[in-house]
Amino acid sequence: MQRQAPGGLDETHDPAHRSWVALAQAPETDFPLQNLPFGVFRHDFEERPRVGIAIGDYVLDCLAVARGGFFDYLGPVVSDVLQSWSLNALLALGRTEARAVRAAASRLLRADTPEGARAQEMRDAILVRADRVSMLVPAEIGDYTDFYASVFHATNVGAMFRPDNPLLPNYKYVPVGYHGRASSIVASGTNVRRPSGQSRPDPDAPPVFVPSKSLDYELEVGALICGENALGETVPLAQAQERLFGLVLLNDWSARDIQSWEYQPLGPFLSKSFATTVSPWVVTLDALEPFRAGACTRPAGDPAPLPYLSDAADQARGTFDITLEVWLESAAMRDAGLGAIRLSRGQFSSMYWTFGQLVTHHASNGCNLRPGDLLGSGTVSGAEAGSRGCLLELARRGAEPVSLPSGETRAFLADGDDVIFRGWCERKGAARIGFGECRGVVRAASP
Ligand code: CA
Repeated sequence: MQRQAPGGLDETHDPAHRSWVALAQAPETDFPLQNLPFGVFRHDFEERPRVGIAIGDYVLDCLAVARGGFFDYLGPVVSDVLQSWSLNALLALGRTEARAVRAAASRLLRADTPEGARAQEMRDAILVRADRVSMLVPAEIGDYTDFYASVFHATNVGAMFRPDNPLLPNYKYVPVGYHGRASSIVASGTNVRRPSGQSRPDPDAPPVFVPSKSLDYELEVGALICGENALGETVPLAQAQERLFGLVLLNDWSARDIQSWEYQPLGPFLSKSFATTVSPWVVTLDALEPFRAGACTRPAGDPAPLPYLSDAADQARGTFDITLEVWLESAAMRDAGLGAIRLSRGQFSSMYWTFGQLVTHHASNGCNLRPGDLLGSGTVSGAEAGSRGCLLELARRGAEPVSLPSGETRAFLADGDDVIFRGWCERKGAARIGFGECRGVVRAASP
């Protein structure tokens, strides 16, 4: 069995390898042979979800592949979990097993291996076109925690609400987060209903309960946890990477008017918990290996992270070069056939904290992180104006509305707006890989 040493490149990353699935070689595909993200899909003819792996514009059906005996050499436990109806069983096994499955899938989909030749003969049984299936939330998410790891986002937002004191003194020491809501996490493509809630538009009048007037998106990256630390046990930073199964795009939909009235003193609540959208394909940390990057360089004068959040390997290679974009298409743009426009483009590597640090900090009090837990990075905003990851920042809290090609403007989202996130990794000497889309259309509030 082909086992990959943790943290290394192996034959699954070789950009020269080609798949017998022709469209996996399309230059613009997010899902070449070198990616092989995991997801959960459902055929239109059966209720039971299945585990899948994306390849080009097809899905490799892991249930069918396992029944074909292709995963037998990984052992009965691995073969069984690939036939289950969620990713959680694989997440419980951990990174080592997931790495072996990805390597097996790579050999099976390659044009130049005996496994590939055999798989190609069974093509109709093990491959399904991506447009013929529904993609689901990729795991049963037990707990969801959202962080605030971009110092640029924290500073921009802080400056709007506290001009004299934009960044609170704890920010550079403690990765700030709050416990989010798992039940309202939805897969890309799900419509999002505008929430109603309490807000106080007139500070001299009592609050009102009305549909949110300042609905926003937040461009984030989500991390799916694998393995488990027992309650009371911590996760040293040197081991945190093995607890990260893979990454998705995440939209932390936010109702700013509800948020600004409710957030003190305990943080966001109903302003966030009405919906969180994730992209359905989990890009594994193994696939991301060629795109590792050093943690952000802290400006001179910033404190060093406390020792439990400080590790030379994490500083050198703890994050990833991922380009992230936000696109928007209003209903009027759709009707006029104008297509979506790009609102922003940012870099994930600009974040102040790495996902390793977020895992270690989360478990530092002995909190058990379980397979299928989801961590949100916090809004990914960079130093440049064009890299701001939410409308609150882009439109300066409504002061500078964004112009759309339809002649409309946006301070916040309107009903009918389709918000689309895209993300990908590109580097010389590596095959480009991507995340697919994370999108959702805003629907009118309940009457
Ligand atoms: Ca957020």
